[in-house]
Amino acid sequence: MKLPNLLLVISGPSGVGKGTLVSRYMERHPESYLSISLTTRKPRPNEVFGKDYFFVTPEEFRKEIENDNLLEWAQVFGDLYGTPRQPVIDALRSGRDAILEIDVQGGVRVKTCFPESVLIFVLPPSQEELRRRLTKRGTEDQETLQRRLEVAKVEFQYLKYYDFFLINDLLEVAVSDLERIIFSEKHRVSRMEQFFKEGGGPFAIP
Ligand code: ADP
Ligand code: 5GP
Repeated sequence: MKLPNLLLVISGPSGVGKGTLVSRYMERHPESYLSISLTTRKPRPNEVFGKDYFFVTPEEFRKEIENDNLLEWAQVFGDLYGTPRQPVIDALRSGRDAILEIDVQGGVRVKTCFPESVLIFVLPPSQEELRRRLTKRGTEDQETLQRRLEVAKVEFQYLKYYDFFLINDLLEVAVSDLERIIFSEKHRVSRMEQFFKEGGGPFAIP
């Protein structure tokens, strides 16, 4: 029996380890589709165009909005970020899980458009550890780092709109927690309806 595929949203404060967690998950589940966002933010030294983000100008970003090419978009830390629509739709149609690593505003928008999506909020083990990780990453100057920590307080208020939380303490544990959330979600009886609608069902002869 093929389990249903999911539209997954991973959010959480900057520096909590979303990128690290998701890339470790993707190594273990290359069959999933990881959405690559558009952003007007400048690339960090190690970031690669088309792998981490599609880095675009504000004008190019506006064009994508006008052409309705974005599934969702938001302004985060003064820059624009958005999810290209078509690749996500294609991945879901082909039966793959689609993973969006996006901010809380985007998460809520996705849930509104796709109520069956699954929203997962990644929490740090503590505030101090969040600061340590953001500092250790060394990609933000002191002012930007401070601003990201301030915004984190607002982001936590969105936790109530999410379906699950997980704590990224030990990375390996967090990855297996993520796997277990996804496993459980795929085994919800309510999602079996999807098979019946598609003329299949758990007892259908393949
Ligand atoms: P985000 O994508 O949420 O902004 P990153 O994935 O860039 O965060 O991680 C921020 C920093 O924290 C990086 O230096 C990363 O190596 C480190 N990190 C991520 N997960 C863990 C973890 N579980 N334990 C310790 N350090 C971590
Ligand atoms: P960063 O600049 O650290 O890569 O990302 C900053 C924030 O933007 C993070 O919370 C990240 O999840 C979010 N983000 C990345 N891509 C998108 C996107 O396509 N849409 C939205 N709404 N947020 C995004």
